[in-house]
Amino acid sequence: MNGAAALTFERSLAGRVIGRDDADYDESRRVWNGSIDRRPAFIARCATPADVATALRYGRAAGLPIAVRAGGHSFPGHSVCDDGIVVDLGPMKSVEVDPVARTARVGAGVLLGELDSATQRFGLAVPLGSVSHTGVAGLTLGGGFGWLMRRLGLAVDQLTAVDLVTAEGEVLRASSEADPDLFWGVRGGGGNFGVVTSFEFRLHEVGPEVLSGLMFWPLDAASEVTAFYRDWSAAAPDELTTALVFRRAPALDVVPRELHGRPVVGVVFCWSGEVSEGERFAEPMRWFGDAVDLTARRSYVEHQAMLDPSFPHGLWIHSKAANVQSLDGSVGEALISLAHEIVSPRSGIVAWQLGGAVARVGPMETPFAGRSAGHLVDLLGATDGPDGFEREREWARHGWEALLPHRSGVYVNWMMDDGDEPVEAAYGRQRYERLRRVKRRYDPGNVFRLNQNIPPD
Ligand SMILES: Cc1cc2nc3c(=O)[nH]c(=O)nc-3n(C[C@H](O)[C@H](O)[C@H](O)COP(=O)(O)OP(=O)(O)OC[C@H]3O[C@@H](n4cnc5c(N)ncnc54)[C@H](O)[C@@H]3O)c2cc1C
Repeated sequence: MNGAAALTFERSLAGRVIGRDDADYDESRRVWNGSIDRRPAFIARCATPADVATALRYGRAAGLPIAVRAGGHSFPGHSVCDDGIVVDLGPMKSVEVDPVARTARVGAGVLLGELDSATQRFGLAVPLGSVSHTGVAGLTLGGGFGWLMRRLGLAVDQLTAVDLVTAEGEVLRASSEADPDLFWGVRGGGGNFGVVTSFEFRLHEVGPEVLSGLMFWPLDAASEVTAFYRDWSAAAPDELTTALVFRRAPALDVVPRELHGRPVVGVVFCWSGEVSEGERFAEPMRWFGDAVDLTARRSYVEHQAMLDPSFPHGLWIHSKAANVQSLDGSVGEALISLAHEIVSPRSGIVAWQLGGAVARVGPMETPFAGRSAGHLVDLLGATDGPDGFEREREWARHGWEALLPHRSGVYVNWMMDDGDEPVEAAYGRQRYERLRRVKRRYDPGNVFRLNQNIPPD
């Protein structure tokens, strides 16, 4: 950094400023998606809301683009930019659990696994996502679905308040009483309105043991498995959240050697109610055909990290997603046919089952638009590095096109910024217009634009 202003800025931060000359610059500018390679002017490691306000003021005064980073898992890499400032919330790691009031106050740099560990000490949990190194902040601000959603709803449905720093450096608290419009906006509208420095969640009794399923069959059985899964999951109580998966079987010890690298269809589930009841309900699916069945009673924390090995840091990935009403007929066939085309052992299709508590929240209560969808389908074109990435990306795009006739929307946290669809598609006209009004009030200059951007109206 050069100049007196930069020096003052650097000295006034409780955290640390990392510039291009620092030894850990390369490590610090990296985000989870390995295909993103951007070089910010510097990275402000913010330890307090005051640091965030200082970084924003400095970035604005210097005319720099501002990226905000929590867990760094944005698929399109919105949390890092070229030649701008990264407001890195990583150091803000506090988690305060009140087991009596059943609430948690969570710093913006906390990862899912860290929050799950803290709450599970009391047998409690916030419904979060499915990979433990994802950031609570970005996941929640977009909606946040995961293994408890059919029983308890999305992560945003548990929010009771947030603390936020505006583009002007003002510190605000938003809840249904204080700034209800802003509170509505942050429950799905992403980081468009300011930098959230802490989240307050309602907690629920979960686990400590859940029934956690992972089973798969060779892809040749996909039509039968998909049809059986459709009926089985349609009858599921809310304690069960499931996903249908297509990919190549990983070369893990728990997977029979003859299936390593072969295309498979899988069912993944989490039963968070009474475990023996879950075992009874899961039986027909587990016994269907010749399933390779890795279902087990696991601690909730263990379950939450179960998919981590499939999503290591540095993976090159392109995500294309669509909400669909059902996996019947041509949707099911399209997915199976796409699964036959998967080349990379890292690529895959995940179709999450919605319904239950997600659908019981009114369509305008939060900006999250997919509440009435049957399934959220994500096509993940991925490789370990640049080799073959272009091909996998094209596969995901062409799969997305095949789903277009059936698509009823898209989850904002699964979108890229490839220009294929407007951000409005993730919200629908009414919610989008309301978000634009909130944006005009809190960020009229669109300082927070490195995101799935909602321009002020
Ligand atoms: C491996 C993997 C698994 C996933 N699984 C799920 C899942 O199960 N369920 C689900 O719902 N989603 C899932 N997602 C999508 C995930 O919700 C988004 O990628 C999310 O944006 C990640 O949040 P983050 O904090 O890690 O990301 P970041 O890249 O740090 O941030 C993402 C976006 O949010 C903004 N942002 C982050 N923190 C703040 C803040 N405090 N204030 C204001 N703006 C902020 C950033 O500027 C950026 O635009 C997954 C993603 C990955 C890569």
